[in-house]
Amino acid sequence: MLKLVEPEQSGKVALDVYSADARLSAIVRGLTQQAALATRQFQGTVWMINSTATGGGVAEMMPTMLKLLNELGIAARWAVIDSDRPEFFRLTKRLHNLLHGQIEAGIDLSSEDAQLLAEVGRDNAEQLAHHIKPGDTIIVHDPQPVAMAGILKKLVPVHTVWRCHIGVDERNAATRAAWRFLQPFLSEYDRTVFSAPEYIPSYLADHAMLIYPAIDPNSHKNRELTVHKMVGILCNSGCQTPYEPLLTEPFNELVRRIQPNGDIVPPGEIGLLFRPIILQVSRWDRLKGFKPLLDAFVKLKKIETPRRKSALSPRNQQRLELCRLIFAGPDPRGVSDDPEGKEVFNEIMQSYLSLDELLKTDIAILLLPMTSRRENALIVNALQYCASLVVQNSLREGFGLTVTEAMWKGHAVLGTRAVGIRQQIRDGIDGCLTHDPTDSDEIAGHLAGMLCSPGQRFAMGRSARFRVYESFLIFSQLGRYLDLFTVLKSAG
Ligand code: UDP
Repeated sequence: MLKLVEPEQSGKVALDVYSADARLSAIVRGLTQQAALATRQFQGTVWMINSTATGGGVAEMMPTMLKLLNELGIAARWAVIDSDRPEFFRLTKRLHNLLHGQIEAGIDLSSEDAQLLAEVGRDNAEQLAHHIKPGDTIIVHDPQPVAMAGILKKLVPVHTVWRCHIGVDERNAATRAAWRFLQPFLSEYDRTVFSAPEYIPSYLADHAMLIYPAIDPNSHKNRELTVHKMVGILCNSGCQTPYEPLLTEPFNELVRRIQPNGDIVPPGEIGLLFRPIILQVSRWDRLKGFKPLLDAFVKLKKIETPRRKSALSPRNQQRLELCRLIFAGPDPRGVSDDPEGKEVFNEIMQSYLSLDELLKTDIAILLLPMTSRRENALIVNALQYCASLVVQNSLREGFGLTVTEAMWKGHAVLGTRAVGIRQQIRDGIDGCLTHDPTDSDEIAGHLAGMLCSPGQRFAMGRSARFRVYESFLIFSQLGRYLDLFTVLKSAG
């Protein structure tokens, strides 16, 4: 049964709350002016259609997007498709994996598969048709509801857009099979939207536009924290020993840390508030490049030869001596549907446990509780605030919101040339990019270079923040949606 989701009315998400913030008022004013022009031409309701109301980046941002679009004068609603046919979700999962280039599952997609996608699309389109009016716009997110446009258009004349949040720049037999399979469905759309030019299949080149993913600067993960709030979060989550009484209660579930003896218990003191901190936050996924980063940190700590050491000022020698590496990822106890994540986590744990005792104290592998999205987001926020240097050593990255989040907090990020990351970080301007995320010597060189050049690091961090302000906040994303509505209108 198709579900219409009524977003909660959150007092914090309102244009005037954003525009009251000195840092955001200009960008919000620009957006309001753009919307005033767009709404003169654009009529009807915008329908966002996806396959889940909770979980995942798309669903997470949707309530905020809808609330703001409505405030800007664009009527916007949200419908979530459903099906009682488990084979449909097996197919869309397979399609998702193929679009990511995973050949293992077999690349055959049959005409029965196409029929299944069409039948579920038809069921949902017929239900939605009762709610939509001629001239409305439907924005279909990702492959699950992709078949709806062709069917809906025959029932009611609507504008149709397909928004693809998936992206890999490599092409192989799997991606080619998936894009070939989707082609008849996608040819029904007036426009398609991707997150990077590299992700657009050639047959859509003339109908595609770009909209970058974005962050909400008022979300729990990205809002500004006062020093007391930040210290409170660190203490309440178990990441910092409280030396004074605290106003707030401990979180329901605490962060856990792999201890040097292999136990996994709350961390206590890790020096987050005092030491130079190198941080990577990610799911436990091999493509996030944890292992080479760990190896690089070990090399960084072993810059012992007198010649190399004497090239550093005493302050920088001290920096490298004191610095610590933090890996933060979801507590596998809270992520039941990710067996591969557990496997990767175990591999990282084994690498950690094989290190010298002294090194182990300088590396904290943190498991963040997932039971409360709010507490998880606040912990990520506080950790990112404490970092001296944020790293995202991904071998592949669709976009890399962790990079955006850190840049927004004024950090120079050490990233890689994975599409999503190089799209955000301009090498040497907003941060640095390694050439090879598997080369631990190269990574170690960058870590030392960036840590030991605080002036340059701060300048890059300033630039990083401005880059996010200009391109990767929710306001830019909404502005691009307004552009899209104008294009649709002028195309008739
Ligand atoms: N994240 C989180 N808790 C964790 C690990 C990651 O909240 O323990 C968040 C992270 O802050 C970011 C998102 O998950 O907002 C990951 O998005 P990204 O685009 O970086 O990578 P993906 O996981 O989608 O590959």
